Amino acid sequence: MLSVVVPVFNEEDGIAELHRRLGAALESAGLPYEIVLVNDGSRDRSAERLDAAAAEDSHVVVVHLSRNFGHQAALAAGLAQARGTAVVVLDADLQDPPELIPALLEQWRDGYQIVYGQRIKRHGDPLTKRALAWMYYRVVRDLANVDLPTDAGDFCLMDRAVVDVLNAMPERNRYIRGLRAWVGFRQTAVPFERAVRFAGERKYGFRHSLALALNGIFSLSRAPLQLATWFGLVVSAVSFALGVWYIFRKITVGYPVQGWASLAVIVLFLGGVQLITIGLLGEYLGRIYDEVKQRPLYVVGRVVQRGS
Ligand code: UDP
Ligand code: MG
Repeated sequence: MLSVVVPVFNEEDGIAELHRRLGAALESAGLPYEIVLVNDGSRDRSAERLDAAAAEDSHVVVVHLSRNFGHQAALAAGLAQARGTAVVVLDADLQDPPELIPALLEQWRDGYQIVYGQRIKRHGDPLTKRALAWMYYRVVRDLANVDLPTDAGDFCLMDRAVVDVLNAMPERNRYIRGLRAWVGFRQTAVPFERAVRFAGERKYGFRHSLALALNGIFSLSRAPLQLATWFGLVVSAVSFALGVWYIFRKITVGYPVQGWASLAVIVLFLGGVQLITIGLLGEYLGRIYDEVKQRPLYVVGRVVQRGS
């Protein structure tokens, strides 16, 4: 059986079309299937629309979370619910085309356990976002201790073996595309053009995108922690050289070096560097705090399925 997991947050105008296109694509794939729709605490009429889809189609399972937990947590809830031997993850706004599922399945049948969509074009995303995303994926690839594929989002197919590993991972700050790279297995890419949103607004403003991006770096890499070491080494070397220079001047020329401005700049510079590195420590400390609390990633309110 094939499972399709879709996180849904305030997507009332897109749900009918999502259900129609997903159903058509899955019927043509010719496998038994289920569609797991995770309602991530939507505040519009999404919940009713989802329940209506479940009432008319026995393939549909709706997991209502008790409030909005965020995209990554909603995905985790869907992956925990999915029963298939292969699981596809895609967005509710139809930016990831359901028609690509047969192509993903084909690679899976060829023996790949992870088949991810790689965006070769992003329609409808502003140029700044495209440029930032392009840079980001390359920076992370260099920083991270795993081989993170570039331009790959959450859209993918995963084998049961992979989903079981992901479900067993206890970490609270989840960056699924990073974890997916971390687990290994045989992975391959299927190129696709990311479509424009079918309906509604983006749920991720700049702030959320930035938070997700930073989470990716902090959860995959310890490099930012080493920044303080590098800054420290450079500053020590420079101040040592300056000290030698001032002593030399005192001996040869004789007058003391004046310089209120240079002193102020040095103090401010060091203060800034210290605050930045304390902030970086805080990022990791906050994440450790989240892990130590051991709270569940999400809370399921109710599960709706025809006949249950
Ligand atoms: N989403 C969610 N919870 C949230 C925010 C978003 O489940 O708190 C879902 C949303 O419904 C969509 C997917 O995550 O299916 C991606 O969101 P969006 O399209 O806003 O992000 P973008 O495609 O612009 O990165
Ligand atoms: Mg989207």
